[in-house]
Amino acid sequence: MTTPFPEFDLAALDPVLSEEQIALLRRFGEPHATTNGEVIWSAGERHPSLVVVLSGRVCVVDRSDGDDRIILEAGAGQFLGELNLLTGQIAWANCEVQESGEVLIVPSNRLRIAIATVPVLGDILVTTLSLRRKALRFAAGNTLTLIGPPTSQSLLRVAEFVDRNRIPFRWLAPDDPVALGLLGRTEANPYAHVWVIVRNQQALADPTPLRVAKALGLDLAIDQTTPADLIVVGAGPAGLSAAVYGASEGLSTIVVDNVAIGGQAGASSRIENYLGFPTGISGGDLAFLAEIQALKFGARVTVPNNAVALRRNEDLFELELEYGKTLRGRSVIVATGARYRTLGIPGEGRISGVFYAATELEARFCGSDPVVVVGGGNAAGQAAMFLSERCSSVHLVHRGDDLEAGMSQYLIARLKKSHNVVLKLGCTIEALEGSDQRLRGVTIQEADGPAEQVSTTGLFIMIGAEPCTGWLRGTVELDDKGFVLTGPDLPSPPGGRPRSGFATSEPGVFAVGDVRSGSVKRVASAVGEGSVVVQAVHRFLATTPITISRD
Ligand SMILES: Cc1cc2nc3c(=O)[nH]c(=O)nc-3n(C[C@H](O)[C@H](O)[C@H](O)COP(=O)(O)OP(=O)(O)OC[C@H]3O[C@@H](n4cnc5c(N)ncnc54)[C@H](O)[C@@H]3O)c2cc1C
Repeated sequence: MTTPFPEFDLAALDPVLSEEQIALLRRFGEPHATTNGEVIWSAGERHPSLVVVLSGRVCVVDRSDGDDRIILEAGAGQFLGELNLLTGQIAWANCEVQESGEVLIVPSNRLRIAIATVPVLGDILVTTLSLRRKALRFAAGNTLTLIGPPTSQSLLRVAEFVDRNRIPFRWLAPDDPVALGLLGRTEANPYAHVWVIVRNQQALADPTPLRVAKALGLDLAIDQTTPADLIVVGAGPAGLSAAVYGASEGLSTIVVDNVAIGGQAGASSRIENYLGFPTGISGGDLAFLAEIQALKFGARVTVPNNAVALRRNEDLFELELEYGKTLRGRSVIVATGARYRTLGIPGEGRISGVFYAATELEARFCGSDPVVVVGGGNAAGQAAMFLSERCSSVHLVHRGDDLEAGMSQYLIARLKKSHNVVLKLGCTIEALEGSDQRLRGVTIQEADGPAEQVSTTGLFIMIGAEPCTGWLRGTVELDDKGFVLTGPDLPSPPGGRPRSGFATSEPGVFAVGDVRSGSVKRVASAVGEGSVVVQAVHRFLATTPITISRD
């Protein structure tokens, strides 16, 4: 086989199924006699099928830019397909027959059942499909090309969306010869807009993440013919955990998120206090693995979908999504977490170089320039440490006089040891300076002391978050800060059994993770709550009428 992924183990990318595994898969698919040159699925098609080669040869070929590129070739016992079989994204390339023979075609809805119910198939298929996605991301080929200046905030939003959703992309400057070549074909002006080119064929001018999601087929990922047992709102650590436990325990489960999988944890470059990862794991990787695990157990994940209202309609809940879609479910877990706070100083929302996350993506914007981090919690400490490895200096600005109240000791010790981290305690950011809409410096004001101008191209604001519960007002009870009240914080139901610790004031609606009043704001506790709440969901469902899920 030829491969554009020399860095990856070919045997792992293109394994041969045993006869026993093929026999098991036959229960979920249909055999099909192939002819030379036949296209089994083509790029852009929604819901491509898994193709298992029984005889002959089949390949996946990218024909999007005239320079045809064979991505994968398979002979007898091998299979074609990628993670989009499970996520509902469009096919990135064509699946074509090179040498006639026979294949087994397993439609994506049947594949999900095979993976969820036959562990020996789940193991090999999920491992291979996710490894192929990793390889595609690594090659960052022609799937998605972002074209615009590195300072573009709107393109950064699209990059964050695709990066957090693990969709392969590359980012080119408008004067890059490849970008000029791509835009030349569509006669688009590279400097008038920022552009997103989908599979080298569709050019989107100044697109939002939602428009990109639509072009990738993500918007139609959920076809709901019967109500789900469980709708999880929010795909941060708490929501993904609830999805894994709900789906693995037999509940038909749908997860919706208005941005991407990972939530706040997805904005962290390295989480070091999560059990089982002694050297740390990036929030993005953790979320990706959790999503695969949820998909493996049969959960459906759809992004970006913003929940705008929740109401009860007899025995069902209706979750209203932005742009008019509604999901129906028998129970709901609210896991919408919290959204970063802004400083509220002039220019913050307009000037590029102001960030609320610190991952490789944001760090790339700053190169080795000096940067400034604001905040006194673990998120700020981690960001400062991460950036200190890439940037010439990091000023950590905190309005309190010490870090002990909000930051773990291990981080404080590392920050103090670091040669290029400057601690600015008892200080605030008073002003931003910029030119050409790009951040050039900030004014750091010492309480009752002098102000200092610091040159920087990156300001990382990590000053905590507010609950994402605007969409729930009037549906469940909230505390005075807007977090969802649960369990013992609510009055006992008259004469009824005590509530679950995660039950809200609306029976059948539960809340977990950072969005819950009184929760511990940590990845591990969010994951723990997401797993435990599923027992309460089972207890609630046992008391409500049964609907049979056919999705
Ligand atoms: C930069 C950073 C670093 C961190 N580092 C650590 C660490 O090292 N260790 C640690 O333990 N904790 C860390 N934390 C805290 C940890 O990430 C959070 O406690 C955890 O992510 C909370 O998980 P959650 O699922 O409850 O909520 P979130 O992670 O906030 O996820 C909620 C999700 O719901 C979505 N959502 C919100 N509203 C809607 C809506 N209306 N419709 C649909 N979807 C919606 C959001 O887009 C989001 O994806 C860090 C936080 C940040 C910001």
